[in-house]
Amino acid sequence: GGEPLEAACKIKAVIFDKTGTLTKGKPEVTDVVGIGRSDEQEIVKIAAALEAKSEHPLAEAICRYAQEEAIDLSEVDGFKAIPGHGVQGTIEGKIYYFGNRRLMTDILQLDAKSVDQKMKKLEEAGKTAMILADEKEILGVIAVADTLKESSAKAVADLQKMGIIVYMLTGDNERTAQAIAKQVGITNVLAEVLPDGKASEVKKIQGTGIHVAMVGDGINDAPALAQADLGIAMGSGTDVAMETGGIVLM
Ligand code: ADP
Ligand code: MG
Repeated sequence: GGEPLEAACKIKAVIFDKTGTLTKGKPEVTDVVGIGRSDEQEIVKIAAALEAKSEHPLAEAICRYAQEEAIDLSEVDGFKAIPGHGVQGTIEGKIYYFGNRRLMTDILQLDAKSVDQKMKKLEEAGKTAMILADEKEILGVIAVADTLKESSAKAVADLQKMGIIVYMLTGDNERTAQAIAKQVGITNVLAEVLPDGKASEVKKIQGTGIHVAMVGDGINDAPALAQADLGIAMGSGTDVAMETGGIVLM
């Protein structure tokens, strides 16, 4: 339509979602670490069983890996997705949790110190590290890596040359986000933003008096696409993102 095109002329800042927008959105498992008595095969078996019920891109990576390694999945009851945090489910009467540090500290009140160093190293390499735990302790860490699209760095550089401020906005952790941002040439990074916080981050930037475009692909990007002066959806993204965006990139 004409309106989005007209809005595009006035844009002074472009906010990019990370996963599936700047990156390919096809993360792959790179590291599996058992903590204490847990062995790696067991960690993957439990995590993949939980993730088999999730539709998150991270879940897909874990399940694909289990399949490649020919690991059978256990039966899961009481599955629950915890947006912006991870997943939980019961296997043979025991509750397991799989997700980020925030899931361990804020929801389970578990101390994540035992895996801090390990996680830090993985995150500084631009990987997303996830923790498996039961109600009492941390059992292991699985890391995945997602690669940048070949065209991302050039797109960012071209926008910056036009005098447009470029941001990255993600639910992923600060260190991973910074590592990816560095690779793509972005210095303005908004990380660890919960799904319902993305739209308010857009609003904050609009509050400085400039017109803002948001580029995203996920269900959790839709409110931010709607809030922006111009919403740009990836054609490879979710239906809700494409319905919300004023422009869809095919
Ligand atoms: P984004 O798509 O912007 O990266 P999300 O809000 O979907 O953000 O996820 C934020 C973080 O929450 C992820 O980086 C991950 O650490 C954790 N998380 C969310 N869903 C899952 C899941 N199914 N399994 C494991 N971790 C998850
Ligand atoms: Mg995304």
